[in-house]
Amino acid sequence: MHFDVVIVGGGAGGLELAAQLGRHLGRSLGGEKVLLIDRFPYHIWKPTLHEVAAGTLDAHQEGLSYTVLARRNHFSFSIGEMCALDAQRKTITLESMKDAQGNELVPQRMVSYKHLVLATGSGSNSFGTPGIEHAYLLENAVDAQHFHTDWLSAAVRASFSSERSLSVAIVGAGATGVELSAELLEAHAELMQSLGSSQRFRLDITLVEGGERILGGLPQRISEQATLALRRKGVKVLLSTRVLELRKGELVTSGGEIQADLIVWAAGIKAADSNARLGLEVNRIHQFVVDDHLRASVADIYAMGDCAACPWEEGRQVPARAQAAHQQASYLSRVLLALLKERESDEPFVYKDFGSLVSLGDNKGVGNLMGGLAGKNFFVEGLIAKWMYMSLHLMHHRAILGSGKTGLLALARLLQQRVSGRMKLH
Ligand SMILES: Cc1cc2nc3c(=O)[nH]c(=O)nc-3n(C[C@H](O)[C@H](O)[C@H](O)COP(=O)(O)OP(=O)(O)OC[C@H]3O[C@@H](n4cnc5c(N)ncnc54)[C@H](O)[C@@H]3O)c2cc1C
Repeated sequence: MHFDVVIVGGGAGGLELAAQLGRHLGRSLGGEKVLLIDRFPYHIWKPTLHEVAAGTLDAHQEGLSYTVLARRNHFSFSIGEMCALDAQRKTITLESMKDAQGNELVPQRMVSYKHLVLATGSGSNSFGTPGIEHAYLLENAVDAQHFHTDWLSAAVRASFSSERSLSVAIVGAGATGVELSAELLEAHAELMQSLGSSQRFRLDITLVEGGERILGGLPQRISEQATLALRRKGVKVLLSTRVLELRKGELVTSGGEIQADLIVWAAGIKAADSNARLGLEVNRIHQFVVDDHLRASVADIYAMGDCAACPWEEGRQVPARAQAAHQQASYLSRVLLALLKERESDEPFVYKDFGSLVSLGDNKGVGNLMGGLAGKNFFVEGLIAKWMYMSLHLMHHRAILGSGKTGLLALARLLQQRVSGRMKLH
């Protein structure tokens, strides 16, 4: 199998790139120029995973099938997990596929490329903490659904227990930890409305952060407002608290032990360990080192999104955010289209920070918008911030579905929620 452009990873960045290239290269080429590969058959925008975990978003409704997206956007799709790279022969190897019983469905395959784009994302970083297996992760839709199932079981247990309480400890107060705390509270409130008074239970959430403030990568004012909002909702926010060990139902921290029915690890960021075995230069957290043209250390290979360490201003790196992946997708689409037309493009990638928005559950959000009117920065909060946050999700859908279908999908989901409720209980 040979394609001019092979993109590995159909997440926030890789899928938008495949859609843009496919649409530009058009129907005439029959989707034979661009191949997208992902280890899952469907796409869920990663910033919504905390909603899938809490049950306020249904993964089966939210998931968009790659094969359908490929047909509509005129690129090819292949399910598979990249496990090796031969940069000299310009081939990648996809792992064999097995069914649930371990029977081989598809043997190992090779795909050759002219240009390769790595967009495989990242996960959390356990920093070698012992007992990490006792925590839930939130790195993909499967993780989120796994947590959701166990969260519902724990809720049933709590509602029939004598204590009538359920405790959740979340390690790491970046966007994932903060948004999950707020979303679980919202899901709990919805659940309590559906239960009789004899079955209602208390939810105790502890958010444990090693740094001096939550949302450490964002401006101080956002951290302060988010901390205030979470504490008002009853979340116990522990700052400057390092987690030393995880045990079943318990966190051992620098400030003492914390008991929890469910523990979620949402701290740090690290790309796949296997990245270090591909023969490309990687940094200490296994991100591919790229230059300001997103070129990796070997010719004709690019990396983008969370899996790439891309230089930015003042010696910093482009942050691992959906807006960075989105901007890099637009940039690489221009570069690759030029290359396919045998034109060189000298334009470097320049990341523009438009600000950050964080969801705080029930129609609340907080964030800042950069470079608005007269180049000033704006602080936004409440319903406006939440709407802006939700519009980012719609913008991603628009990039892969077009405006009309995005509008229809949003309407269909609104109607579905009106009929069957927001919280997914099964
Ligand atoms: C709960 C949560 C909330 C977040 N909230 C925000 C937010 O509010 N704002 C924001 O800007 N960012 C947020 N983020 C971060 C944001 O989701 C990421 O920065 C963004 O998704 C990165 O895009 P990406 O394309 O690099 O990787 P991803 O979106 O992670 O996609 C990577 C893709 O690669 C595939 N893949 C991985 N390895 C392989 C392989 N070996 N072979 C084949 N396929 C592979 C995966 O299946 C996946 O589809 C949040 C993240 C989480 C988890």
